[in-house]
Amino acid sequence: MSNIESNIASIRRELPEEVTLACVSKFKPSEDILEAYRCGERVFAESRPQEFCQKAAELPKDICWQFIGHLQTNKLKMVLPYASLIQSVDTLHLIEAIDAAISVGTPLCLGDHVDILLECHIAHDATKQGFSIDEADDLISDWPFRNIRLRGLMGMASYTEDTALIEQEFLSLKALFDKHKGGSFDTLSMGMSGDWAIAKRCGATMVRIGSSIFGAR
Ligand SMILES: *Cc1c(COP(=O)(O)O)cnc(C)c1O
Repeated sequence: MSNIESNIASIRRELPEEVTLACVSKFKPSEDILEAYRCGERVFAESRPQEFCQKAAELPKDICWQFIGHLQTNKLKMVLPYASLIQSVDTLHLIEAIDAAISVGTPLCLGDHVDILLECHIAHDATKQGFSIDEADDLISDWPFRNIRLRGLMGMASYTEDTALIEQEFLSLKALFDKHKGGSFDTLSMGMSGDWAIAKRCGATMVRIGSSIFGAR
């Protein structure tokens, strides 16, 4: 077994079937993605628009491509035709730009709408992007964007050894998720290579794993 194959097998053993595994392939070559693809993986996530589009254009069409990086509005037109989910929607300005791009007829991966997650700032360190829990709560309660389907929430915990803190951060996102879940609001994306086991315990429906599958970047 190759490393990628055995890494996926060991993650799959621990991950409940109903939790989606988004394989984070940023900075990794297409051959690595194809290896994970041959293991049965179909959900891949990228963080840079150029790389995202290139890989999506050349790799198998049944891959479900998700965007997880910071997205500038001037790069939207590149990303929308391929993104089955944009996980990293972190400002109202970006939401409005997505809405505007839809109304001028930009080709969309899903045809007539865009699926997104709101990225929420749950970490106690200052570096992470995103809405506060309260801002996200208000936005979800009164969602005016008909062609943008709000599928749920994404968050990143603090980069720390303090598992109690990580758990507390994930649970704060889970509480907001539970308040609104139902219908197509069904996705709680949290947990990366270092903390996905904690995220799983805290109720994640999706984990985003890169280096534990593909190796260090
Ligand atoms: C890079 C990245 C990941 C994956 O990180 P690993 O620690 O390599 O698993 C997950 N989520 C986001 C938003 C990322 O940018």
